[in-house]
Amino acid sequence: MEACIGVEQDLDKAISKFTSLNDHTDKVLHDIVEQVENLKKEIAKQPANTPLSQTQAMVVSELAARVKKTVFQMSTEHRELHATVSKVGKTIDRHFIVDYGSVAPRAESFCCDENRPIMEQAIAQHLYRQGLEDVGDSLVAEARIPAVERTCTFALLQRCAAALAEGDPTPALQWVEERGQELAHSPLPFTLHRMQALKLAREVGVVAAIEYARAQFPAHAARHERQLQAAVCALAWCTPDAPPAPPHYAHLLDPAALGAEAAELFIRESCALLRLAPLSPLAGGVLAGARVIPALHDIRTKMAHPHVIAAWGDDELPLEVDLGEDGGGYHSVFACPILRQQASEQNPPMRLLCGHVISRDALNKLAMGAKLKCPYCPMEQAPAEARQIYFS
Ligand SMILES: [Zn+2]
Repeated sequence: MEACIGVEQDLDKAISKFTSLNDHTDKVLHDIVEQVENLKKEIAKQPANTPLSQTQAMVVSELAARVKKTVFQMSTEHRELHATVSKVGKTIDRHFIVDYGSVAPRAESFCCDENRPIMEQAIAQHLYRQGLEDVGDSLVAEARIPAVERTCTFALLQRCAAALAEGDPTPALQWVEERGQELAHSPLPFTLHRMQALKLAREVGVVAAIEYARAQFPAHAARHERQLQAAVCALAWCTPDAPPAPPHYAHLLDPAALGAEAAELFIRESCALLRLAPLSPLAGGVLAGARVIPALHDIRTKMAHPHVIAAWGDDELPLEVDLGEDGGGYHSVFACPILRQQASEQNPPMRLLCGHVISRDALNKLAMGAKLKCPYCPMEQAPAEARQIYFS
């Protein structure tokens, strides 16, 4: 964060210098153009083919000299601006790690013949998921990427979320209405109807909003009583001559905040309903990577000793990294909750009769002859009844 602030300070300096130079240059150029225009008009007043008088010739040559001087000054000032801009680049280099090569010694494996098509597919899939079909199509055609699912459900969700963020709940409401039954326990329908009612109040009038609320809100009254009351009260501050609203209604009366919140909720709820990951594999990978790399870089610099460096495995991170709330749902491998080891082909995850899953090593350790008691519940079973599970 400190690094970002450091860069931001220099960037602010560069931007303010740029703006003031821009304003100054505009003014100077405007003045010069005006002077030249005036002189032109003056000379045009004379009959054609009249030679310039000595005073006029002097005025012209003076103005020419002034234009030359101004252009020279402007180019000097412009050069000085370059120094400020390149300082931002240097500050970025100073505050951020430039080379992550040591952390990912096998980064080139992304480009090998085997992995390159997978990377390209992930990029195309990401573009389609973001609703950027045109860009995705161009990439698929130019890079000749095979087998990418184009009509992606996520793209539709993304379009609904984008409309919400821009303050339009209509596409999302339509999507929700088609799935009323499945979303009966979700806060999403009420959130969208509330947004629509407040939008109507702003754009059409409070009467229209109240009519909409009367039609839509009763179905949600039991689950969202307090929020519903607040939304109806907020309508009172939507009339043109209403006094300023009390601060606790500020959020409801801020269309941008309401839209952003609804968009986030929409993606979360719709992905949960359709069992889709809220991020594409590429976005998930980038998010996880961004969280992991600083920690890896730190540990790498501390692990310079050759013996220690040997512990740096090729396919396993040397430390556990918390991916936070938005990245926390990803597990590339199963980790045994008993032995705290990652599962492998030799030690795969095993599902017990009760549904709990432990690694085979843990199962063998816990088995007492033909009996095994689940470490998580009271169920007893035979070790042979456990089934290996596979993640695809
Ligand atoms: Zn159990």
